[in-house]
Amino acid sequence: MMAGDIAAAKTAGDIAALAARLRMALTDAQVLTDRQQLRTYECDGLTHYKVVPALVAFPHTAFECAAVVRECVAAGVPYVARGSGTGLSGGALPHADGVLIVTSQMRAILDVAPQDERAVVEPGVVNLAVSRAAAPHGYYYAPDPSSQQVCSIGGNVAENSGGAHCLKYGFTTNHVTGAQLVTPAGDLVRLGGRAPDPPGYDLLGAFVGSEGTLGIATEVTLRLTRLPQAVRTLLAGFGTTDAAGTAVSAIIGAGVVPAAIEMMDALAIEAAEAAVHCGYPDGAGAVLIVELDGPAAEVDAQFDDVEHFCREHGAVEIRVAADDAERALFWKGRKSAFAAVGRISPDYIVQDGVIPRTALPQVLRRIAQLSRDGGVRVANVFHAGDGNLHPLVLFDDSVPGEAARAERVSTAILDLCIEHGGSITGEHGVGVDKAKSMPRMFTADDLDTMQLLRCAFDPGGLANPGKVFPTPRLCGEVPGRHKGAHPLQEAGLAEVF
Ligand SMILES: Cc1cc2nc3c(=O)[nH]c(=O)nc-3n(C[C@H](O)[C@H](O)[C@H](O)COP(=O)(O)OP(=O)(O)OC[C@H]3O[C@@H](n4cnc5c(N)ncnc54)[C@H](O)[C@@H]3O)c2cc1C
Repeated sequence: MMAGDIAAAKTAGDIAALAARLRMALTDAQVLTDRQQLRTYECDGLTHYKVVPALVAFPHTAFECAAVVRECVAAGVPYVARGSGTGLSGGALPHADGVLIVTSQMRAILDVAPQDERAVVEPGVVNLAVSRAAAPHGYYYAPDPSSQQVCSIGGNVAENSGGAHCLKYGFTTNHVTGAQLVTPAGDLVRLGGRAPDPPGYDLLGAFVGSEGTLGIATEVTLRLTRLPQAVRTLLAGFGTTDAAGTAVSAIIGAGVVPAAIEMMDALAIEAAEAAVHCGYPDGAGAVLIVELDGPAAEVDAQFDDVEHFCREHGAVEIRVAADDAERALFWKGRKSAFAAVGRISPDYIVQDGVIPRTALPQVLRRIAQLSRDGGVRVANVFHAGDGNLHPLVLFDDSVPGEAARAERVSTAILDLCIEHGGSITGEHGVGVDKAKSMPRMFTADDLDTMQLLRCAFDPGGLANPGKVFPTPRLCGEVPGRHKGAHPLQEAGLAEVF
């Protein structure tokens, strides 16, 4: 039996009874059952997967969230956590016979403690709100997904989100020191805290990036970072992505770690220009935005190095932001790029993969070849410093066969990432979208071993079933490939329960 079958046995009467129990645990207004209203929650940012949930619950507190999970467990009904619903891999896609638990009303910033360099927040707090709250104390929250004006901290934790400035400062996992969560059994537990590195297994590390499969975060303790003394930003135009890619490796190879290095290719530049008139160099085959931050003297010295490496590797034009307004304009083109692509193509797939940054020139050339062979255009706009690619595969759904060609090119790009020692996702997660790609990267034994961890947290398989893993199995079910115990069981290293 698959995890999804658990709820298939539920009748409309079962769901109505669950709704009644949830209304007793919460209030009427916190439980949605009206089909029209439920449709609002049928997808996340990846809109081509749509499932209307059976119920939506809006807990206001950790205790209410735990009560909802306990009711789901008692009724054997699956549930999915949702923050702001901006995810791009279908992670918050509801279960048709399940409860969607939306944390957007848990929005309190509980503490900002500059002395500890920590902030404690509820999961529905929007990413940028943390930096705004910390700014008067001279601090900010470093991980900055492009969606930071709307995405929630709970979603960031579940996806281990990245952003332009994660090159220097690290991803979400490097900025979470503690969390309170509702376990899949409905218990409230704490992992970590304000102090770094507690002894024992790194369960917090396992929880961050677990995409809602190991529990629901109800409070998160975040590391705050001191606002830098100086920030300097440069825009460099190159003839080709090859030249720009080589410049990226040269900068980092010389020991300079900018806060951010972002790249856009000619098609992405064209789209951004059409949308926001950002004034990028005319006719450039690629642009780099390089931002340095830190102590002013260090930033000035490293800035000279960055300019030098850009010129040495063929930059045809370099502009240095004279003030905050010009810096914002440089970033405006980059930050608008995803949406801007909608101006030059009716439909597009946002792909997300990672490669070692030294492979950038080679992989970008192969992507161009795949685009030519597949007969679909690909725009590249990405976190070049991290080697985190975001190829945008453009197509027109009204042209027969074009969507299928785009899908093939998009999948081939992921294969390319794996071939070059990279990964099928850099920051958008696996969700429902890439679950089928996991076996390309992991062996059956790898995947079974991951299931052991999942089952340890969630033996009932009710927390976000059908996500991350290609063939969700109920805990305790013997995987098909192994006609007996899993090798780890045979070795006495793990138990299935
Ligand atoms: C225009 C745009 C730009 C983007 N840019 C970036 C970027 O630069 N970097 C990046 O990393 N991502 C980016 N994203 C993707 C997305 O914004 C991030 O994945 C973000 O972290 C999702 O947060 P959310 O609150 O919207 O989560 P949702 O979409 O609501 O949920 C995402 C996942 O988290 C789980 N979840 C939500 N809340 C909780 C909780 N409290 N406890 C446990 N699990 C939970 C859900 O079940 C789901 O699996 C972008 C998205 C868009 C639309």
